[in-house]
Amino acid sequence: MSDCIFCKIINKEISSNIVYEDNLVVAFRDINPQAPVHILIVPKEHIPTLLDLNENNKHVVSHAYMVAKELAKSEGIDEKGYRIVSNCGNDGGQTVYHIHFHLLGGRFMTWPPG
Ligand code: AMP
Ligand code: ZN
Repeated sequence: MSDCIFCKIINKEISSNIVYEDNLVVAFRDINPQAPVHILIVPKEHIPTLLDLNENNKHVVSHAYMVAKELAKSEGIDEKGYRIVSNCGNDGGQTVYHIHFHLLGGRFMTWPPG
């Protein structure tokens, strides 16, 4: 998707603070962090929303969670705990329509989110 900001980050057309990359995902620091650790784990495939997951692409979700687990360890937030968030659509608060998983940690998280 030529007008997708996350595709541009994946293709290195715009810079970002990448902390991990493999054949399926890129992980980079959120430009507007909501916690001391705030990393976005983004599948390389352009999938607009969680509603676009299907049998062919669903494996990226479990892979993203495994990458999040390893990043939680390397960021030192594994023992105290962390949160993974994925917003879907307008009411879910999604602003970038290329699915991603927020890895948040380094502070106590309240519930429910606003
Ligand atoms: P969401 O609102 O769930 O779609 O999350 C989109 C996230 O992308 C927000 O937390 C933004 O701060 C973040 N974001 C937007 N543009 C960039 C960028 N160029 N680099 C890093 N993070 C970004
Ligand atoms: Zn995209």
